[in-house]
Amino acid sequence: MSAALLFRDDAFLKECAATVTGINEQGGIRLDRTVFYATAGGQPGDRGVIRWDGGQAEIATTVYDEAKDVVHVPREGQALPPIGAGVTAALDWASRYRNMRAHTLMHLLCAAVPFPVTGGAIGEDGGRIDFDIPEGQIPDKATLGETLNRLVAEDHPVSFRWISDEEMAANQHLIRTMSVKPPVGTGRVRLVMIGADGKVDLQPCGGTHVSSTAAIGPVAVARIENKGKINRRIRVVFQ
Ligand SMILES: [Zn+2]
Repeated sequence: MSAALLFRDDAFLKECAATVTGINEQGGIRLDRTVFYATAGGQPGDRGVIRWDGGQAEIATTVYDEAKDVVHVPREGQALPPIGAGVTAALDWASRYRNMRAHTLMHLLCAAVPFPVTGGAIGEDGGRIDFDIPEGQIPDKATLGETLNRLVAEDHPVSFRWISDEEMAANQHLIRTMSVKPPVGTGRVRLVMIGADGKVDLQPCGGTHVSSTAAIGPVAVARIENKGKINRRIRVVFQ
């Protein structure tokens, strides 16, 4: 039984009560439910702490195992909770909130650059997306920066809608970014909408987002690099 992913319904949960369902061979902790986002295509796994009666383990990152279950990876030398123990799983909220701002910013970048996406990642200071952009259509750095800052300042709400796998299959054009793939095979897919009815951006996404774009804060386009014949890497940073 995989952990229930509480952050999918509420990315603002900072901690939760849970039960230890297993410890893997590398000392990774499995829980029945979690607020920890596991590393998936470009968004880093969460850090934080798992506490139980008589001990705690600092969590360095969170990953998925081969069975797609969430594994909380302790820093080296941490104590491990007994299987079956009741614990509190608490995020390093400053780190997660920064990831939420950076990830939501990547949606805006995607909306502002209407070309196919081939990859992406976020980090401490912002993030980047790789696009296929033909020669002659590469955006101007300053103009793109203005567009992004306008979308941030307009404070568009971020909301969700769950649709069925069938509805998703009938709307493949909605899949633009491959940076955070939506969960598949669970019978439903989460659509992320920025602006009323997704007028700014609308795509399936399993990542974590801030609740409106103003929370991202001011940004700047740091670089537009050529990474191949038509592959352009656009890097945007917080200011
Ligand atoms: Zn997203």
